[in-house]
Amino acid sequence: MGSWNYRVFWDEALNQAKTELGEHEYAMWFNIEYVSSTESSIVVQVPSSFYRDQLVRQYQNYLESKIHELSGKAIKVEYLVVKPNMAPSTATHPAPSQAVQAKDEGQEGLGQRRPSLAPREKGKHPQLRTDYTFENFVIGDNNGFAANAALAISKNPGTSYNPFLIYGGVGLGKTHLMQSIGNRVWTEQAKPKVICITAEEFTNEFIQSIHDKTTQNFKNKYRYVDVLLIDDIHFLQNKLGSQEELFHTFNALYDANKQMVFTCDRPVSELKNLSDRLRSRFERGLNVDLQPPNFETRCAILKKKVEASLVAVDQEVVEIIAKNISTNVRDLEAALTKLVAYSQLVHKDITREIAQNQLKDVFSQSKHGNVTIDNILRVVADHFKLSYSDLKGKKRTKNIAGPRQIAMYIAREITEYSTTELGFEFGGRDHTTVMHACQKIEERLKLDPNLESSIQGLIRAVKDISSKV
Ligand code: ADP
Ligand code: MG
Repeated sequence: MGSWNYRVFWDEALNQAKTELGEHEYAMWFNIEYVSSTESSIVVQVPSSFYRDQLVRQYQNYLESKIHELSGKAIKVEYLVVKPNMAPSTATHPAPSQAVQAKDEGQEGLGQRRPSLAPREKGKHPQLRTDYTFENFVIGDNNGFAANAALAISKNPGTSYNPFLIYGGVGLGKTHLMQSIGNRVWTEQAKPKVICITAEEFTNEFIQSIHDKTTQNFKNKYRYVDVLLIDDIHFLQNKLGSQEELFHTFNALYDANKQMVFTCDRPVSELKNLSDRLRSRFERGLNVDLQPPNFETRCAILKKKVEASLVAVDQEVVEIIAKNISTNVRDLEAALTKLVAYSQLVHKDITREIAQNQLKDVFSQSKHGNVTIDNILRVVADHFKLSYSDLKGKKRTKNIAGPRQIAMYIAREITEYSTTELGFEFGGRDHTTVMHACQKIEERLKLDPNLESSIQGLIRAVKDISSKV
C-alpha cells in the first residue's frame, strides 16, 4: 500500500480559495477539515450532509481543478460527514434514509431498500449523483404517477415501459427521478451497464467521434447498455445528425429490450425541428409529466431537506417558505439553503422573523418572477408573426385582436398585475378591456382543445426567456 499525502495541495487550494472567493463566502462554506489521502483522492471532513451537498454542488469542480493545477494529478475530493459529538462514520455517503411521503397513499417500496445492498458496496456510479435516489424523492399528487412508474421500471428495466419519458418545467425533479432509476438498478443488479448523460453531452461526444473518426466506438458504447438515461432531450432540436444517431441507438436498444429513460422540458409534441421518426420513438413508451408540488408536498420536501441539514427548522418556518414559494422544488431548496447558511453563519436559530427578513427578496421574486409584460408581448408577437408595436398598439383588426387577448390572458395568469395595471401596460386600455379579453379566451378554451396547449407553450416560452435575463 502506498502512503499518499496530498495535504500540502489541499492547504494551498484552500488558501487560494480564501483569496479568490473572499472571507465571507469562504467562512460560510469552507468549514472543512483535511482527514487523509488515498492514491487518487483527498478525504475531508464536513459537519453535515447539507454542507457536503453544497460543496459538491458549488465547489467540487473548483476545488478539484485547483488541486489539479497544483499537483498535476487528477485527485478527487471525497467527504466524510462527521456530525459534532459523533464518532466518525466510515461511509463517505449518507446512509439510506426513509422515504417521506406527502400523503400516505400506500405507494409501495420507495424507502424499502435491503440494507445489505447499500450503494457503497459497488462504489459510486460515475455519472449518477448519490443523492438522487427514490429514498430522497418525496411523492405528492404532482409526481406520484411518474414516481411509481419509475419505480416499476427500476424493478424490471426494459420490460414495463420503454422508453420512459418524463417531462415538465424546470426544477420539478425530472433529473432526480431519472437518476433514481439509474441508482436503483445500479445497486440492485449484479453488473448493469448504466449510462447517464445529457442530450448535450451525447451530441458533443457524437460530434467529437466524427472528428476523431471513432464513430464505431461511439456506437458500440451506446448500443450495448442495459439502461440508457438521457437528460434534457429538448436540446436535440435542430441537431439533425445527433437525432439520426440517437434514432439508431434507440432502435438497437429497443430491439434488445434495454431500458431507455429521457427527460424533456415540454411534451414531445411541442418539440420543434425533430425528425418525425425520432418523435414517434419518444412517444412510443410511457410519457408522464411532473407538475409543481402543492403546499402539502412542498412542506414534505422541505422537511426532508431539513433532515439532511444540521439546523433545526420549525414547522412554522417550513410553512412560511412553502406558502411563499410555489414555483418549483429548486426554488424551495434555494430558499432553505439561504436560511440554513445564514443561521450557521450567525449561530442563531431560524425564527419566523429571520425567515421573513432573509427571504424577503426571494419571496417577492417568486411571485413576480422575472416575467415582464414586455416579454409576454414579444413572445406572443413572435408566435403570431406580428410586431411588438402592433400588439401593444390601438389597431383592432381581427388578426391582431385575437393574439392581443391571448397576451392579456397570459399576463393575467402568470403575473400579479391587476387588470387596471395590465390595461395600462397594454397601450393604455381600460381594465374592462382586459377582463373582457380574459373572458373571451376562457370561452375559447372550452371550445378549442388545442388552444390550451398552445397557450401553455407560450407561457413556457415566456418563462424561459424571462429566466435568462
Ligand atoms: P429538473 O431536472 O426537473 O429541472 P431536478 O431533478 O434537477 O429538476 O430537481 C431540482 C431539485 O429539486 C433537486 O435538488 C432535486 O433533488 C429536488 N427535488 C425535485 N423534486 C423533488 C422531490 N419530489 N423530492 C425531493 N426533492 C426533489
Ligand atoms: Mg434536469
